[in-house]
Amino acid sequence: MKAAQSSDGILVDRYGRVARDLRVSLTDKCNLRCTYCMPAEGLPWLAGPELLTDDEIVRLVRVAVQRLGVTEVRFTGGEPLIRPGLVGIVAAVAALDPRPRISLTTNGIGLDRLAPALRAAGLDRVNVSLDTLDAARFTELTRRPRLDAVLAGMAGAAAAGLTPVKINSVLMRGVNDDEAPALLRFALAHGYELRFIEQMPLDAQHGWDRAAMVTADEILASLRREFDLRTDPAERGSAPAETWLVDGGPARVGVIASVTRPFCGDCDRTRLTADGQVRACLFATEESDLRGALRAGADDEDLADRWRRAMWGKRAGHGIDDPTFLQPARPMSAIGG
Ligand code: SAM
Ligand code: SF4
Repeated sequence: MKAAQSSDGILVDRYGRVARDLRVSLTDKCNLRCTYCMPAEGLPWLAGPELLTDDEIVRLVRVAVQRLGVTEVRFTGGEPLIRPGLVGIVAAVAALDPRPRISLTTNGIGLDRLAPALRAAGLDRVNVSLDTLDAARFTELTRRPRLDAVLAGMAGAAAAGLTPVKINSVLMRGVNDDEAPALLRFALAHGYELRFIEQMPLDAQHGWDRAAMVTADEILASLRREFDLRTDPAERGSAPAETWLVDGGPARVGVIASVTRPFCGDCDRTRLTADGQVRACLFATEESDLRGALRAGADDEDLADRWRRAMWGKRAGHGIDDPTFLQPARPMSAIGG
């Protein structure tokens, strides 16, 4: 049965899905150059005036939380830790009533220094991306020699109480696909929660190749050579990661199999880019411009209504397997992963 578009309240789409989880990209810039994300030379970055100001971001998050039923806010990018106003933005969002849960996805560089201030501002948790524990591989994969900084960032986050610290890992064939067990051993030893993400066609270079992608089945088979994995009895809900108990638990490992086991039917995400565009999906080819409306003087209810309309048009699925699939013009780093 199809739902009816709500004129007030929640962000519902025509398939009845309700978006409660907002991903906000704070910048499209980054201090790494992961090969599956951007080219070595970087990208044509958004110009300063195109970016939402700190106050504009907080206003749009307030509209989402107070008028649209959003309960989770995750800051991402690009690399969100390089946004100068980050701590103030987190503090302002944490002061909202009702208070959303607040998390951050980061490459971890500089997190050891920033974690206490972020925690004090109201950040609840972090996800730190780490694809390899080998320093030479890290440098090859991210094109920057910063493995030690990432490891220090994770430790700093845990010490500051930004827990559970979750690790996001992308495996690439012939690069780091032998490292799944080592990454899990590392996560278990430090009390971090590891989740593997299947590589998606969102790189700026459009170099994604399905045949080269390391699948969830391959990742699980590799882990099972060393660990006993049992289906996690916990309710998955709208979480993108399918999780397994490791060696009887309570430790878990997750796999986000966006490509081989899509979870679009349970998706509860809405996205705001650093230049103020609402995207109903990572893979959407349409966007809805809230920045223009906001700067033209729209009131909060007008902004909320534009957001509702944008989400109403969300497609049923990402369609990666459809022969007509078109990769979105914006790469992952400019959407907010
Ligand atoms: N810079 C931060 C970081 O790396 O965590 C936040 C932004 S990054 C785009 C968010 C997540 O997307 C990271 O975990 C990264 O590994 C993942 N990612 C980037 N490109 C991807 C791709 N093509 N397929 C799957 N995951 C990707
Ligand atoms: Fe930067 Fe994150 Fe993209 Fe790596 S995945 S280049 S850290 S935005």
